[in-house]
Order: sequence, then structure tokens, then C-alpha cells
Amino acid sequence: MGLAHLVERLTAKRWTTGLVADYVGEHRGAILAHAADERIRLGAASGGAVTAVLVALLESGRIDGALVCRTVVEGGHVRARYALARTREDLLAAQGSTYVLGDLVRDGLPMIAESRGSYAIVGLPCEIEALRRRPELDERVCLRIALFCGHTSLPALIDKTTEKLSLEAGGAALAGYRFRSGHWRGHLSATFEDGTVIEKPSGYYNMYQNLYFACARKCLACGDHFGYRADLSMGDIWSYRFKDDPIKHTSAIIKTQAGQDAIDAALGLGALAVQSVDITEVMDGQRRVAPFHYNVTARHVAGRRLGVTIPDKTATRVRWHEAWAARIVLRNAVATQTEEGLAAAMSLPRWRLKARLWLLKGLEALS
Ligand SMILES: Cc1cc2nc3c(=O)[nH]c(=O)nc-3n(C[C@H](O)[C@H](O)[C@H](O)COP(=O)(O)OP(=O)(O)OC[C@H]3O[C@@H](n4cnc5c(N)ncnc54)[C@H](O)[C@@H]3O)c2cc1C
Ligand code: SF4
Repeated sequence: MGLAHLVERLTAKRWTTGLVADYVGEHRGAILAHAADERIRLGAASGGAVTAVLVALLESGRIDGALVCRTVVEGGHVRARYALARTREDLLAAQGSTYVLGDLVRDGLPMIAESRGSYAIVGLPCEIEALRRRPELDERVCLRIALFCGHTSLPALIDKTTEKLSLEAGGAALAGYRFRSGHWRGHLSATFEDGTVIEKPSGYYNMYQNLYFACARKCLACGDHFGYRADLSMGDIWSYRFKDDPIKHTSAIIKTQAGQDAIDAALGLGALAVQSVDITEVMDGQRRVAPFHYNVTARHVAGRRLGVTIPDKTATRVRWHEAWAARIVLRNAVATQTEEGLAAAMSLPRWRLKARLWLLKGLEALS
């Protein structure tokens, strides 16, 4: 047994019905899934199940399109941009995760308001919540997929990261970027105008992100990891027993009848390979981040000490390791909201940052 497996065993969590209800809300079942089509699976962030479901619904005429988010490079900067995908190719072009703050409410929802037809939408939990607060738009949407969400980051974080990559590429301008593809944690890839391609383990960017550098402020007050108000919640499965599985899976929580119908339709069309699992399997795959995310109280308390106001929505018990983790996160997030603060934090030696990250992960992992 490797060290990671051992740590995972030692820090195993007991998912009571009450905890699952708090973290996930209502649900009907859970599955691990991947796209049956290799092209979809290999171009995905996880198992490609999000895209496989959307392609199946689109091509069988059940939806007219889907509101998706693309990672684009504009003027040398990586940004999140929204599009109403109406073809398989549009959906494939939006695959992957865009780990930079966008504004789906401002830039995405008007596309649905201006179009006729029935749509699916992929968004972060807070965005699905915002959609639900707009009944006139929500009724035009027949499927709401929430991605599991740890948090998102201000554009400054990816700008600083790509500046470093551009220096490595000899100063060429950025032309294309992918946050993550490939097996397990995967790798990032940056393509430059002179044709240079730089690939790095996705941890190159995710280390800063996981330390909450330039964390979007709204995320500090958010406890919705899975998307309470979605039809389907979809994300990764980070249990170590899947590390050597040659097929990467998307884990999915079926929350409503509309979510169940979408999975059934995709299965019926042969678009998905699926295994039913207990919800605790999905929770195990999010064992560290989901409880930390839910515990807004810990950040509320840490915020009080640092002079940052974070409304407490969860009134949760805060244990010593949760309080410590929240203090680290808040300090990092607050110190890196400005360009100067972020530059200073990112200039620290990587070994020091890694040590801080391991401390944070260790605190989050404690039961
Ligand atoms: C900011 C962010 C934080 C995340 N945090 C976690 C986490 O903590 N734990 C976890 O398990 N998973 C997390 N995920 C989800 C995970 O990265 C994958 O998106 C998910 O597993 C689906 O993979 P897939 O292969 O099925 O989807 P793919 O087939 O790759 O399709 C991805 C779909 O997601 C949409 N999408 C990508 N980025 C965004 C975005 N920013 N806003 C709206 N839609 C988007 C795309 O348009 C596409 O339709 C996060 C994703 C994002 C964007
Ligand atoms: S952590 Fe919450 S507020 Fe932040 S992007 Fe995710 S769902 Fe939205």
C-alpha cells in the first residue's frame, strides 16, 4: 500500500445521512460515468460525462443547445467565455475546466433570454443558484448541471502564471491554453504564437489555486460544493484507488427527475458507460475539500480575527484543525487580492509553497 493510500485510510470519514444531507442536499442516486466515445473522453477534464450527456440530448433533439463555458485566449490573456453550443463540435470545443472567474449571469444567461427553444446549462453551483432565482429564464432550461466546485480564482492568477510560461517560451505571446487534460490530475498546456507548446503538471497552476491565492471573494462565503439546486452535480473522483484506473471517471449525483431522465437518455443512446455507486463513494472522492467548503462558519470566525466580514450561513461546529485551515486560507486569499500581494506570494520558492499546501491539505483531511 502506498503512502497516499495509507493516509487516505487513516483519514477516512464517516458519512452520516445528516452530513450527506448538509453537503449535498436532496439526491436520488450516484454514479461513476465516462463518455463511451473515446474522442469525448480523451478531450475531457474528467471522464467526459458532462459533454457525453449534452451531445446525446442535443443529437436526439431533446434540447436545442446548451450554455457552456470555454477557455479562450484574448489579447494574450486566458479568460472564461460563454457560448450557446448548438452542435457536437461546439460542445467538444467547450470541454475541459475553466478555473478562472467568469460571469455567467452577466454574459451567459442573456443568451438564453434572447433565444427560442429549450436548453441545458452547465455552471458552477452559485451560477445554478442564480439561474433558479430567475424563474422566467429557469423555465426555459430543462437540465441544470452543476460542476462540483472548490472555488474559482481571479484572472490575475492565470495572468501571472502565463507570464511565467511566456518567459520560458522566450517571450512569445500566448495563443491557446488548457487548464487540465490527461490522466488523474493531468497537465496544463500553453501554446504560443511561435508554435512553442509548454506542458506542465496541472499542479503548476493548481498549487497556487489550492493555496487560495487570488481566490474570488464570493467563494470565501460559499458553502455549496455540489450544487444544491442542480438536476445533476458532476465532478471528479479523487480516491487513490482510481489513480491507476486507465479510464478516468466523472462522478455524478442525480438530484432530480430531470437529471435521472438525462442520464437514462444518454445511456439509452449508448453515449455513457455508467456504474451505480453509493453516495458515500462520491463523498470519499471529495473527502478533503467538501467539508472544508461547507464549513463557512470556520471562515467567518477566521475572518473576524482578520477584519474580513464573511456571513456565516452554516452555523457549523468548528474544530481546531478547521479553524487553523480557515485562517491559512483567509490569510492567503486576502494577501493576494492585489497584484503586488499576488506577485510577492508567487515569488516564494516552490518548496515553501508546497510545504504550506501540504500543511493545509493535512488540516483539511483530519476527521
Ligand atoms: C472553477 C471550477 C472548480 C471545480 N472544482 C472542483 C472540485 O473541487 N472537485 C471536483 O471534483 N471537481 C471540480 N470541478 C469540476 C471538474 O473540474 C470537471 O469540470 C468535472 O469533473 C466535469 O468533467 P467532465 O470530463 O465530465 O466534463 P467535460 O466533458 O470536460 O466538460 C466540461 C463542461 O464544463 C463546462 N465548464 C468548464 N468550466 C466551466 C466554468 N468555469 N463555468 C461553467 N461551466 C464550465 C464546459 O463548458 C463543459 O461543458 C471544478 C470545475 C471548475 C470549472
Ligand atoms: S465556490 Fe461557490 S461562489 Fe465560488 S465559484 Fe464555486 S460555487 Fe461559486
